[in-house]
Amino acid sequence: MFKEDCLFCKIVAGTIPCNKVYEDEQILAFHDIAPAAPVHVLIIPKKHIDSMNEVTAEDLPLISDIHRVAIELAKQLGVAESGYRLINNCGPDSGQAVQHLHYHLLGGGKLGALTG
Ligand code: C5P
Repeated sequence: MFKEDCLFCKIVAGTIPCNKVYEDEQILAFHDIAPAAPVHVLIIPKKHIDSMNEVTAEDLPLISDIHRVAIELAKQLGVAESGYRLINNCGPDSGQAVQHLHYHLLGGGKLGALTG
């Protein structure tokens, strides 16, 4: 559940601060410390999951809840109508820097083209 050397587990535990926008029993969302767009929020499960590769069938209700929170936050942050992205980076090629599952909610302006 809690991984000692995980940055986002420490944010969940409150030992590293964050600019929180949403919290419930299972999910935390906070403004990204280095925003890549006018709106850049990270939505994470409180439970430690290394990456999308480790998501199990048992976690699917949680993943569904993360989507519900993303939709609510998009409305709350005023980007639901203008548009936004919900992005997960998984593994080295994606640039995943923090090994705790998280989704980037990006919006608030015209976003660059996806590259791959
Ligand atoms: O998907 P990826 O692992 O690259 O994203 C990690 C994100 O966590 C980065 O956008 C980074 O700015 C953010 N971050 C943060 N607060 C921290 C450390 C990293 O918002 N204390």
